Amino acid sequence: MKTGKMLPLALKGLFTKPATISYPYQKVVVPSDFRGKLVFDPSKCVGCMLCVRDCPSGAIEIIKVGEKKYKAVVHLDKCIYCGQCCDSCVRQALRTSPEFELAVYDRKDLTVDI
Ligand code: SF4
Ligand code: SF4
Repeated sequence: MKTGKMLPLALKGLFTKPATISYPYQKVVVPSDFRGKLVFDPSKCVGCMLCVRDCPSGAIEIIKVGEKKYKAVVHLDKCIYCGQCCDSCVRQALRTSPEFELAVYDRKDLTVDI
């Protein structure tokens, strides 16, 4: 780009607000359909295992914990946040949430009951 064209752009940049934000000091607002950490509603789960079958990365387990009672365990280090398990669940027992700050110091902490 020639200097004559660059100069107006550079001057404009001096008086324009930056597009970036000061994360993490300023919180990011994610879109309403953002696919973050999964949320599980055990009262809706019937243990059909469709979510486990359809997960492309083997990131979710459904474990029977009692008579018609199940818990979900997710390996956050394997999950690709595709939302397929939510789409596959006919009971709407799984949904994605806006939570994306999932960093931990120990990888073991990325296997969680949800
Ligand atoms: S969001 Fe995708 S990768 Fe993560 S548990 Fe569900 S199906 Fe598996
Ligand atoms: S697909 Fe839904 S109802 Fe079936 S095991 Fe998974 S969470 Fe439970």
